[in-house]
Amino acid sequence: MSISSFNPPIRTLMGPGPSDVHPRILEAMSRPTIGHLDPLFVSMMEEVKIMLQYAFQTKNELTIPVSAPGSAGMETCFVNLVEPGDKVIVCQNGVFGGRMKENVERIGATAIMIEDEWGKAVDCNKVEDALKANPDAKVLAFVHAETSTGAQSDAKTLCALAHQYDCLTIVDAVTSLGGSELKVDEWEIDAIYSGTQKCLSCTPGISPVSFSERAIEVIKNRNHKVQSWFMDLNLVMGYWGGSAKRAYHHTAPVNALYSFHEALVMLQDEGLENAWQRHTQNHLALRAGLEAMGLSFVVDEADRLPQLNAVTLPAGVDDAEIRGKLLNEFNLEIGAGLGALAGKVWRIGLMGHSSRAENIMLCLSALEAVLGDSIKQGVAVSAAQKVLTA
Ligand SMILES: *Cc1c(COP(=O)(O)O)cnc(C)c1O
Repeated sequence: MSISSFNPPIRTLMGPGPSDVHPRILEAMSRPTIGHLDPLFVSMMEEVKIMLQYAFQTKNELTIPVSAPGSAGMETCFVNLVEPGDKVIVCQNGVFGGRMKENVERIGATAIMIEDEWGKAVDCNKVEDALKANPDAKVLAFVHAETSTGAQSDAKTLCALAHQYDCLTIVDAVTSLGGSELKVDEWEIDAIYSGTQKCLSCTPGISPVSFSERAIEVIKNRNHKVQSWFMDLNLVMGYWGGSAKRAYHHTAPVNALYSFHEALVMLQDEGLENAWQRHTQNHLALRAGLEAMGLSFVVDEADRLPQLNAVTLPAGVDDAEIRGKLLNEFNLEIGAGLGALAGKVWRIGLMGHSSRAENIMLCLSALEAVLGDSIKQGVAVSAAQKVLTA
């Protein structure tokens, strides 16, 4: 048997993540591997923390990348803040709220579920009712940007409500960080996790997290040991903590952190507000094109995520066949619907480096090419161009 090197094609990634990785970030990843306790690596880790604080808009000391994907960031937040017997109010309006429930229940805690229709934002009134009805709830958990549907929830209002009722907050910002407004300190978020492969356009496999002082107090004063040794922040803090003396905890993914450092340098150079603005502007251009061809959005305008555009399939069109053609004929990946929306919607991502005019044009013209008579032909590209040059 002879297996040769793997050489992937160059695709345009316009699904729910990963997004296109900038060549600068890929190049950073191939720099020489050094030891994870090498003083030079340690000082790079410090820079990663400082730039992450900027991305999250926080002064939280405990702002670090977890050495694993977004799902591990989620689990890090839950296993550290929640103990067996606790009560957690979990908002579900798509796939990821369901995973939060799994996390809570596997800890041996109780999840009080607030359910909203897929494609809608979390209903703040229902959350307030639940907070009133459950004065013993310890945590409110919700997804800021629900990638499975393209809906954005009002994180600022939800966090204010939680604190009014003396609850901690756990916020999923995997798809919002770097793509839409997010202010950890101003909104008083207690625990937040994200991913590198969505609006930060970095290689997948790292999960930035941040914890408030309030959250750290809770973690330090737990009654039970954190069930996960790897994710126990009491131990991780010794590795990432501010002190000069770093204790070995695990081997950091050295090269992946080079690429993350580069992604954060690029975000800093662009400016956070400019990045948010770019995501919004490109969303409006893509939207103009999609609507011109006759496609309609799943989410109400007020709650739409700029970085994840969910549209309903035209009647009589085969989902898998069209996505297959886009991939094989145009090297273009778009996302399928998940769960209740499977086979009914497409999710077109404009995240990070994927959020560019050339991708919008490729996507619109490729959709025209493969959809034929099921949409209005010849109008999408000019509709988008009008927005881009406005
Ligand atoms: C992608 C995503 C996750 C999971 O991240 P992974 O890196 O795939 O583990 C969690 N929450 C949301 C909202 C996401 O979009």
